[in-house]
Amino acid sequence: MPNVRLCFFVFFAVFLLSESAWAKRFAFERIEMGVLIRIIVHAEDAATVEKAANAAFDRIRDLNATMSDFDDDSELMQLCRRSSEEFEKTGTGPWMRVSDDLFSVLESSKRFAELSDGAFDITVGPVVRLWRRARRMGEPPKPERLAQARELVGNDLWELDKKTQSVRLKKKGVQFDLGAIAKGYAVDQAFEVLLVAGLEIVLVDAGGDLRVGAAPPGGWKIAVPESQDEMISLENRASATSGALFRFVEFDGVRYSHIIDPKTGYGLTTPFIVRVSAPTAFEADALASACSVLGPEASRKLLKAFPNAEVRFVDP
Ligand code: ADP
Ligand code: MG
Repeated sequence: MPNVRLCFFVFFAVFLLSESAWAKRFAFERIEMGVLIRIIVHAEDAATVEKAANAAFDRIRDLNATMSDFDDDSELMQLCRRSSEEFEKTGTGPWMRVSDDLFSVLESSKRFAELSDGAFDITVGPVVRLWRRARRMGEPPKPERLAQARELVGNDLWELDKKTQSVRLKKKGVQFDLGAIAKGYAVDQAFEVLLVAGLEIVLVDAGGDLRVGAAPPGGWKIAVPESQDEMISLENRASATSGALFRFVEFDGVRYSHIIDPKTGYGLTTPFIVRVSAPTAFEADALASACSVLGPEASRKLLKAFPNAEVRFVDP
């Protein structure tokens, strides 16, 4: 007669091992939104994983088509253009209905602007454009051009109506720029696609704005951009990093970051890197940009509204 206890033990051991023995690691990469997007999944069925990863990448591509300010045909660019055209014709800006995704990002952006006293402000578009031009031309923006552009920056220059899912720009030439939040939102949405497909041990990384789900055996070990030897462990959480170190333009020995202080119109010259972890990637992304502008002291007030976020200022 077979040893019942031994059979039970073997069955139990196989059951315990099954998760780690059958689950494999799958990694995918694609360029979307101008960055390398990485998706890592630990699961059993290759076909399910591949299908879900493709759907997640496609979701990011669609969001780029909605929110990019580099693509003249994006919903965002059409919206701003239409508003300015209506101003030309009628002297006033129309209410414009927008997609669910765009409304959600605009609604969050308004909240971040309010809570950060304007340090985070998606109307920086005209100023960002001047700095992009400055980088191409190799000379700083002219102060009078900056002053003009700053006339179009302000959280009070646009409003939302939740009932009709609409937005209205209150001045001709207002130009949204979702560069500080859209990538985080896209990471969250891609993450959601993977979860809906039944995958749990997942990582979505868009150039350092990332979100992870349940941990694989050994945990998720994430390299941090500001230090070559340091790794952080994350589980069911998101992380984003911002700072002058990553993208800047240099004039007369001064480095101006691609993050703008909306109050001055100048790129930040503060050297520190801000790393945020938060429950979602859009929060981490937006908070990293907002805290970069505010600095360690002034960030405290903003962070009170996000008790589940952790922020670290690193002075390299
Ligand atoms: P990345 O992760 O790509 O380095 P960030 O999340 O740091 O970008 O956001 C920077 C981008 O956000 C800029 O390139 C610009 O498009 C936009 N931006 C710059 N300054 C601000 C600001 N004060 N508030 C909101 N958006 C900003
Ligand atoms: Mg950001």
